[in-house]
Amino acid sequence: VKPAIAIVGAGPAGLFAAETAVKAGARVTLYDRMRLPGRKFLLAGRGGLNLTHSEDIETFIARYREGGRELAPFIRAFSPQDLRAWADNLGADTFIGTSERVFPKAMKASPLLRAWLMRLDQLQVARISEATLIDLTASGGVLARAGQREEMTPHAIILALGGASWPELGADGAWQNMMRARGVDITPLSPSNAGVLIDWPAPVRALAGAPMKLIEARVGAARFRGEAMLSENGLEGGAIYAANAAIRAALHEGACDLHLDLQPNRTEADIVERLKARDPRRTLGPWLESKLGLSKASARMVATLTQARDAEALAAAIKGLSLRVRGFAPIARAISSAGGIAWRSVNQNLSLKAAPHVFVCGEMLDWDAPTGGYLLQACFSTARHAALGAFAYACARAKDA
Ligand SMILES: Cc1cc2nc3c(=O)[nH]c(=O)nc-3n(C[C@H](O)[C@H](O)[C@H](O)COP(=O)(O)OP(=O)(O)OC[C@H]3O[C@@H](n4cnc5c(N)ncnc54)[C@H](O)[C@@H]3O)c2cc1C
Repeated sequence: VKPAIAIVGAGPAGLFAAETAVKAGARVTLYDRMRLPGRKFLLAGRGGLNLTHSEDIETFIARYREGGRELAPFIRAFSPQDLRAWADNLGADTFIGTSERVFPKAMKASPLLRAWLMRLDQLQVARISEATLIDLTASGGVLARAGQREEMTPHAIILALGGASWPELGADGAWQNMMRARGVDITPLSPSNAGVLIDWPAPVRALAGAPMKLIEARVGAARFRGEAMLSENGLEGGAIYAANAAIRAALHEGACDLHLDLQPNRTEADIVERLKARDPRRTLGPWLESKLGLSKASARMVATLTQARDAEALAAAIKGLSLRVRGFAPIARAISSAGGIAWRSVNQNLSLKAAPHVFVCGEMLDWDAPTGGYLLQACFSTARHAALGAFAYACARAKDA
C-alpha cells in the first residue's frame, strides 16, 4: 500500500510539507478551511515577501533566541541557501536586497504561489478546500466539510495550522483547545512583530500612518535600529518589531519605557549645532524638519510631547524621546505569533508525544523570530522535517496494514 498522508493547513508550511511528502513517495491530500490556499503568504508578499536572509548560518540561527536550539537541526538540514535555491527553481529569481535579506525579484508572492500550486498539481497532491479540522482521533482526524463531519484515517497527519494573527485569512489559533484536550502543552499564542500601544495626544494621532524614517528604539540597554511608523494608538515598523521581545520582557516586569533616538546617524552635539539659531517666527515642527531632515512624524512628536525649546533640550529629546508603552496591539494585526505547541510535547521527528500519528510544523510550534525572513525559513525547515518524519511513520504503518 502506498503510504497516505493528510496535511491540514495550506500555508507555506503545509504546502512545503506536501511537496516534500509527495516527492518522498507518499499519497498526499492537503486540506484547508479557506477557499484559497496561502492567504497569509500572499499578504506577506505585499511587503515584498522577504523569504529568508543571507547572513551566515550561526548568526541566522541566533535570531531565534531560545527557539534556535530546537530549530537549529531543521534549519541546517534545509538552510537559507536551500530555500533560495528552491524559490529560484520555481522561477522566483531571488536577489539579496538591503541588509542581506532575500526577496523574489517580483517582490510579491502571487507568481511564486501560482507556480508552486501548479507543481503540486503535477505531483498529484489532492487539494481540498473549505474543510476544517475539528478534532483528532486515536488514529486519524475529523473534518467539518460542507456541513458534514468527515473522518479521515491516513497513515499519518501533518498539521500546519499557523498562529493566530490575521484570523480572517484562516489561521485563528482555534487548534489550541483541540490540542489541550489531547494533553498537548501549549505556550499561549501572543502577538509578535506587533505594534505597541502608546497614548498619543490628538496632534500626534493625527499623523497616523506617517513614516519616521530610520530610528533607534532602546529598551533598557538593548538597541534596535530600523524603520518605524506612527499608528492611531502607538508605533509599528521594523525597529519596533525587533524590540518586541525586550518590550514583552519589560512589560512582564511591570512597565516599559521606550526611548527613541530619532536621528541615530547624528550626534547630539551635531544636532545642537544645527539648532542654535532659531527663527522665532517659524513653527517648531516644520523648522525641525527643515533643519535636521527629520520626518514630519518625528518633528511633530518632539514638538508636542516635550517641553524642549532651546537647542540643547531639543537635541536631548531627539536623541532620547521617552515613551510609555501600554502593551501590544492585538494579535489579529500582528505579523506573527509567539508561543505555540511546546517543544516538550513533540518528539524529535516533530510528531506529538500525545498522538504519534500527528506531526506539526510551521508557526504553530513554539518559536519566535523577528522579521527578516526568519519566519518563513522556520516554516519551510520544520515543514520538511515533519514531512520526512511523517513519511517514515506512514511507511511503517502502511507495511503493517
Ligand atoms: C502582514 C504580514 C507580512 C509578513 N511578511 C513576512 C515576510 O516578509 N517574511 C516572512 O518570513 N514572514 C512574513 N510573515 C509571516 C508569515 O507569513 C507566516 O509566518 C507564515 O505564513 C506562517 O506559515 P504557516 O504555514 O505556519 O501558517 P499560515 O500561513 O497561517 O497557514 C495556516 C493555514 O492553516 C489553515 N487552517 C488553520 N486552522 C485550520 C483548521 N482547523 N482546519 C483547516 N485549515 C486550517 C489556514 O486557513 C491557513 O491556510 C508576514 C505575516 C504578515 C501577517
